[in-house]
This record gives sequence, structure tokens and C-alpha cells, in this order.
Amino acid sequence: MKNIKINSQKLNVGKIVCVGRNYAEHAKELGNEIPEFPLIFLKPASNLIFSGEKIVHPDYSNEMHHEVELVLLIGKKIKNADESAALNAIAGYAVGLDMTLRDIQSELKKKGHPWTLAKCFDGSAVVSDFVSSENYNLKGNEKITLSVNDETRQNSTLDKMIFPPVEIVKYISEKMTLEPGDLIFTGTPKGVSKVTRGDKIFAEIENIGRLETEII
Ligand code: MG
Repeated sequence: MKNIKINSQKLNVGKIVCVGRNYAEHAKELGNEIPEFPLIFLKPASNLIFSGEKIVHPDYSNEMHHEVELVLLIGKKIKNADESAALNAIAGYAVGLDMTLRDIQSELKKKGHPWTLAKCFDGSAVVSDFVSSENYNLKGNEKITLSVNDETRQNSTLDKMIFPPVEIVKYISEKMTLEPGDLIFTGTPKGVSKVTRGDKIFAEIENIGRLETEII
């Protein structure tokens, strides 16, 4: 069981809900349309690793991509939340990586199959420490960056999101109950690119956190 420490509490990680195509420039770079509603998929908690741990590159893919994302930690059980309940349910923020096997995803998309095998593998979700929402009010325009071997690959701001965090939480809670310990990955800005074994990734969101990992 994976857990996250926040406000001197420990929360067991539940489901990991991810939003796809939440930055217009990223949707465009992969040739996708701008979505009308948040595009949602899941990862199991067992995929999660923490900053400092390494990502084992699956041998059935030749194209692993990094996606740096703002991650929300849910601290309250909510269903059909309004905006204020959605905001209140966010217990903390972190920077995270939604690692993706782009070659596998392209094949699955062509066939109209679920993305599961492209998105769910051990180490495919990485998070930094969480900053508590009691201690930090998200401004919504924080810088979000990622570098590989000291070369900047992603560099944007959170205000480029199509659906901001509260709207995402509200939307997901209309479709499924959110519970304490659930994580929400809110989508990646443009600049996703391939990483290979030996690459070192460093990701940061201004005022929120930083993480590092290595592909092995
Ligand atoms: Mg993503």
C-alpha cells in the first residue's frame, strides 16, 4: 500500500484519475482536437512511485514519453460536488509525471482500444512531496517545467489549462465518487518527448514542488 503524508496525516493512495489533452498546445502537438469535456483515464495505485525512485523502461515499448503535470490530492469523500465542495476536497498539490508509452498508445488509438497498456505500468506515475492546500493557495499561473539531462523540454504555466483544477474535480465527482487518498493528474503542457534508459528527468512546479527520477 502506498501512502502520502500531508498535515501530519497519512493517506493511503486510492485511484489515480488522469486528465488527457488539458492544454491546447499539447492536444495540437499530438494531432488531437481540443476536448469539450475533460478526457479521463485511470492508473492503479500500484503504478505510483515517488521522487528519487527510478522508472524501469518496459521492454515492449520503444517510445516512452514524459508528461509533467500538476497533481491534486483528494482529502474528502465527494460525489456531485459543487465548486466550493470541489475546492474544499483538494488537500494538497504536487508535481507529477504521467509517463506514457506513445508507440503503444498510437497503436491502441488506431484500433479504438482503451489506453490502459500505454498508460499503466509500474513507475508510470511519479509524484513529489505534497504541499498542503491549508498552507498554499494555488494561484493558478505557477510555472511548470521539465528537463531531461539538464535540457528544458517542457516550460509553461498552469493558466494554460483548458479545465482548471476545481472544474476537473467537480466534473470527475459527477461521474465517480472521489475519496481521501485519490490523486488527480491534471494534464500536461506541450513539449512531451522521448526518454531512454539512462536519462535523468527533473520536474518542478513553482511554489509547489520538484521531483527527480531516472529511466533504467
Ligand atoms: Mg498526461
